Amino acid sequence: MSSIAPPSPYGSGAPYGGQPYGSATPYGGGLQPGGVPLPGGGGPTPSTLVASNVSAWFGSNKVLERISLQMPAGMVTALIGPSGCGKSTFLRILNRMHELIPGAARNGSITLDGIDIYGASQPVTETRLNIGMVFQRPNPFPSMTIAQNVLSGLRLSGKKVRNSDALVKESLERAGLWKETRNRLNESGGALSGGQQQRLCIARALAVRPKVLLMDEPCSALDPISTGVIEETIAALAQEVTIVIVTHNMQQAQRVSHQCALFLVDGEGRPGHIVEAGPTRDVFENPRDPRTDDYVHGRFG
Ligand code: ADP
Ligand code: MG
Repeated sequence: MSSIAPPSPYGSGAPYGGQPYGSATPYGGGLQPGGVPLPGGGGPTPSTLVASNVSAWFGSNKVLERISLQMPAGMVTALIGPSGCGKSTFLRILNRMHELIPGAARNGSITLDGIDIYGASQPVTETRLNIGMVFQRPNPFPSMTIAQNVLSGLRLSGKKVRNSDALVKESLERAGLWKETRNRLNESGGALSGGQQQRLCIARALAVRPKVLLMDEPCSALDPISTGVIEETIAALAQEVTIVIVTHNMQQAQRVSHQCALFLVDGEGRPGHIVEAGPTRDVFENPRDPRTDDYVHGRFG
């Protein structure tokens, strides 16, 4: 497979040298950032998401201050930082869920491949289909079968499903759950283990064929073995879907991400902002800001 150099999110003058990405992950050749589609296709081409000067409020409480971050096609971007600094809020802004919260407001722009997702002509339903989300707690529908769960996102969006058996298989395969469920498709989604339920939620999100997958602490409720399986799934998906993951696990950030952004607040009641963003290896091994050094080495947070 040929490799395409990833676009630099840091501009041409970035001090990151020639190959800033991927080298810090243990996935080696399996994870090739840069938008290389899987052989045979299947999924959509990954897409670049760009946040520019995004601020956010709940009522009069400003919780995010001018967040600018490029989340390049085919890469895994990890958002790290202590609780309460706005990581989940930022993710919800990325797929227009923030506006569903009463009193929530936002400023700045988000583009997906150059198109403003908040643009007047951009249907919100399409944005939410393009940009899927997986949450901290696995939340399959317990009254639905495994297969119905996979198709539920599509059905709720009113989309016709043509070859549903093939789509169920493909989605479960991409989520790394097919082998465990191929003979149990008509069992309840609630009958699966926590880790399997989380992969079922990933399969449900993938069935819609999103361009971007947002994951908010997807492993924080899981045991280490299930966490490892989800990380393998993320590594495999990174080639076909742009991934943004929030994690409090610094080892996980190093294992799965190509680039990292550290969010912090400067004090009680202050808005969250990005202290440092860059290739994961630099953020962990050669940070520019002493606060980054302290945070990634567990000296606060
Ligand atoms: P993180 O994910 O980094 O822990 P959040 O985005 O959840 O941070 O929260 C950022 C800030 O916004 C916090 O001060 C939190 O209390 C506040 N906040 C989050 N959700 C809401 C909400 N629904 N209503 C009001 N304030 C909220
Ligand atoms: Mg959160």
